[in-house]
Amino acid sequence: MLDVQSFAAGQWVSSGAGARNIASAITGDVIAQAGNDALDVQGMLGFARDTGGPTLRKMTFHDRARMLKALALHLREHRQTLYDLSYDTGATLSDHKIDVDGGIGTMLVFASKGRREMPDAHVYLDGPPEQLGRAGQFMGRHICTPLQGVAVHINAFNFPVWGMLEKLAPTLLAGVPAIVKPATATCYVTEACVRIMLNSGIMPKGALQLVSGGLGDMLDHLDCQDAVAFTGSAHTALKLRRNPVLLERSVRFASEQDSLNASVLGQDAEPNTAEFELFVKEVHREMTAKAGQKCTAIRRIIVPEARIDAVIAAISARLSNTTIGDPRNEATGMGALVSASQKHDVLKKTALIGAEAERVFGNPDDFSIEGADKDKGAFVPPMLFHCANPDTAQRVHDTEAFGPVSTIMPYRDLDHAIALLNKGKGSLVASVFTNDGNVARDITLGAAAFHGRLYFNNRSSMAEATGHGAPLPHMVHGGPGRAGGGEELGGIRGVMHYMQRTAVQGSPDILTAIGQQWVPGATEKTDKPHPFTRSFTALEIGETFHSDSRQVTLEDIETFAHFTGDTFYAHMDDEAARANPFFPGRVAHGYLLLSFAAGLFVQPDPGPVLANTGLDNLRFMAPVEAGDSIKVRLSVKHKTPRNDEYGEVRWHVTLTNQKEEAVAEYELLTMNAV
Ligand code: NAP
Repeated sequence: MLDVQSFAAGQWVSSGAGARNIASAITGDVIAQAGNDALDVQGMLGFARDTGGPTLRKMTFHDRARMLKALALHLREHRQTLYDLSYDTGATLSDHKIDVDGGIGTMLVFASKGRREMPDAHVYLDGPPEQLGRAGQFMGRHICTPLQGVAVHINAFNFPVWGMLEKLAPTLLAGVPAIVKPATATCYVTEACVRIMLNSGIMPKGALQLVSGGLGDMLDHLDCQDAVAFTGSAHTALKLRRNPVLLERSVRFASEQDSLNASVLGQDAEPNTAEFELFVKEVHREMTAKAGQKCTAIRRIIVPEARIDAVIAAISARLSNTTIGDPRNEATGMGALVSASQKHDVLKKTALIGAEAERVFGNPDDFSIEGADKDKGAFVPPMLFHCANPDTAQRVHDTEAFGPVSTIMPYRDLDHAIALLNKGKGSLVASVFTNDGNVARDITLGAAAFHGRLYFNNRSSMAEATGHGAPLPHMVHGGPGRAGGGEELGGIRGVMHYMQRTAVQGSPDILTAIGQQWVPGATEKTDKPHPFTRSFTALEIGETFHSDSRQVTLEDIETFAHFTGDTFYAHMDDEAARANPFFPGRVAHGYLLLSFAAGLFVQPDPGPVLANTGLDNLRFMAPVEAGDSIKVRLSVKHKTPRNDEYGEVRWHVTLTNQKEEAVAEYELLTMNAV
């Protein structure tokens, strides 16, 4: 019997008074015990706030991103341990891969995005500065800093590893410590995963704690710097979000709940088209993966009325080829539900659905399994229902049987399909199988507001498409209404749930100091040698070089035009250029100005500047005619370390003419030796 421990204030704590038994989904035997009423939840909160938080906040976003990468790689080395434990949850090897490898992959994406899209600093800048005063000496900008409390993550049973890691990665990247409370039914897998991470020594003390079993009264001790992220049933979410302490102290509460996700077969998807085949394959996969215990699984199958019979036949044929049984057997296509009580719940819900829809595949009283005892394990067959009157039916649109259960229903036209989709009253995801862009657009306009994600698949995308049911770290996961109204993942958006956005206002120097990014109007440091002679480390934010000026002649314009082949009329034909609303007559090429700018600011000798890697946010603001003079201001805006050898310097470049008017502005990127 496993003693599933909690990790509280730096100590492993055994299960104790109030512990719950956990049974194997396959044999029904009790295999573990978790929970301890005496757990010091206030001590855990204090440890996270006083020890974990300050250490994490001292690290930069890049430090924390590197930590995530190291953790993910360490977990990958130990994933077999997690696979071995997961069989008793009823899951097959391909289910473990969704959970374990999916969780590790999510962590790696956050590690990489953290280094590519966040600064190697402590403040995240949200958008460009706003000029609030006329002369540019009073500016504003939005910044994000980590919450100074703790994130409490309450997870559902179905993904004991992914469920934890998809929340943990953005939380740690933000710089906030976490207390994870997995669902008791599968907490032994989460406990093993936490143990692997803690034993690695990669995380600072207090960054991660674990509650196996009940959470006690932890939520009653949260405050405005804390955040709760819940995943589970709508019923539990409602209970928790009503907590008066959370309401009174405005504690962030994000909820990812169940939803009645749907999939639509486009009218263009006739039998024998790629879209029809894909649709049937996807429905089958969503019904059987994790034995249908996926929050994103397809619960409603919306099909043109003329194709109902063909789709039922095709899905049934696939389902009848699915072997149910011991998930350890390679031939098993679908394992068991997580527990006897989950089986009881699924059968109760299918009875409700059955009052409005006819069961056309799968009989829970008559099905066969391989390699296990049907009476002991939590096995059910996949069950397909047909609801002929989805407009008057209610239960098929609001009852989530959290198992291999789905209902097929007909639609007359696209408006009807959209109305049925939206009867879910807010879902995590809807998928549409169509090769018709107009169908995709109409469904988007009609149903996007009711969905967190819309997934379109067809013959063009099928080879690369990631699946209806797969939340990706790059894309938002969550949905409105019934789905909980929360959002997770979505790249750096997911990190923001654990940070406070603050509007800061002040002079350019003040904003430069806060954001560690030079803001136009801030002091220019001009007392240093040419910046191209200075190493990445030596360069300071705000270091500025002012070039000499150079006159642009008609001969320059002619030469550039013929040399490059760019003889566009605005550079060559005075009369035609004059007829254009933007030009006073023939003007210099924008790219000629950029080339002259480089000639004005570079220091030609070999030195720390290794390469010009790009240019961002280029704007040509005023035309330059023959006879005008230009000069350049080059300021170090921002520095991003890349590795031990070099780092990226972002330069703010402004070209002005002889009247001190800005004619072009851009950001230049170079790689500079350390
Ligand atoms: P659940 O019964 O609602 O439990 C969810 C979590 O809440 C578990 O960790 C549970 O712990 C905890 N919990 C229950 N009562 C609590 C309380 N009074 N205080 C603190 N924590 C409490 O859901 P589940 O059965 O584990 O998961 C299945 C449901 O989750 C399905 O409806 C599914 O659709 C949904 N789900 C949604 C998503 C999503 O991303 N939207 C993902 C996966 C699953 P115990 O286990 O210890 O009771």
